[in-house]
Amino acid sequence: MARNVIIVGSGPAGYTAALYAARAGLSPLMFTGPEPGGQLMITTDVENYPGFPEGVLGPDLMQLFLKQAERFGTEIQHKMVSKVDLSNRPFKVTADDEVFEASTLIVSTGASAKWIGIESEKTFGGFGVSACATCDGFFFRGKEVIVVGGGDTAMEEANYLTRHASKVIVVHRRDSLRASKIMQQRALDNPKIEFVWNAVVDEIFGDTEPHRKVTGVRLKSTVNGSTWERPIDGVFVAIGHQPNSSVFRGWLEMDELGYIKVEPFSTHTKIPGVFACGDVTDKTYRQAVTAAGSGCMAAIDAERFLESEGH
Ligand code: NAP
Repeated sequence: MARNVIIVGSGPAGYTAALYAARAGLSPLMFTGPEPGGQLMITTDVENYPGFPEGVLGPDLMQLFLKQAERFGTEIQHKMVSKVDLSNRPFKVTADDEVFEASTLIVSTGASAKWIGIESEKTFGGFGVSACATCDGFFFRGKEVIVVGGGDTAMEEANYLTRHASKVIVVHRRDSLRASKIMQQRALDNPKIEFVWNAVVDEIFGDTEPHRKVTGVRLKSTVNGSTWERPIDGVFVAIGHQPNSSVFRGWLEMDELGYIKVEPFSTHTKIPGVFACGDVTDKTYRQAVTAAGSGCMAAIDAERFLESEGH
């Protein structure tokens, strides 16, 4: 029998959609995907999620989201959705080679930060290496940090970080920026931002005892391959995000970067009965609280949609 709602993805958007759908009596089924809990699972302290004045660890916060979704009857399966068929209702969702049917579908598969791809980046992830200045900038008060990238995100992160850090060094692999003119100018005019052109971060150094922390980087010229080292307290990787939308390609409308398009101020996609929320739809805000808010919207949209059909 078709489920009322299948939710694909288990970050703040997915769990919030599950909580609302479960409380509405829709007995949702959630497939967690390959990274249960989503991007917050690789964050340490979260100090900007309302309701936690002392801050909360990312994984702890997601555990609370999970418990609350389960409390009202969400069925959670640790499966990865590999295929969907949205041509007719009920929709067909293939998870770990089993086919499930759903009257409505909520897509909350999130986005993943792109990483440089060096081993030391993983070693110090959450301990000086971050992909989110809004989340982690605060921990670098009075310190020197590097931002990798030359796009709008990198400029935005660099500008934001100057509120906390004493110096921000943008390391870009070319000699011109990809960012929009206005964002470029703002960064170029900021006296706390320095640019290192034609270079990439080749290695990140740090201590593991008594605390894991970044102490420096090796930079490498993209022009002649020469390398040099520089002491630094943190590395912010801002080379773009990848929405996790490939399973829905060909079915749902997406922008050129793969973000799923939804109608303004709603979570409706172009297919009636399919809703999308959280970072897979959002390249602008990307916050846990905004994702959670849109997850709530998706569940309400799904509930009203079913109701309109006399459910
Ligand atoms: P992006 O525009 O794709 O820029 C990524 C940057 O990272 C580029 O400068 C790229 O270098 C560099 N890069 C990519 N892979 C790299 C690697 N492996 N090593 C070193 N550098 C690497 O991504 P984004 O800045 O996240 O922006 C994504 C979209 O969101 C854009 O459309 C942007 O305009 C939009 N956005 C808008 C705002 C805003 O308006 N407030 C804020 C953020 C994002 P190259 O230049 O050499 O390719």
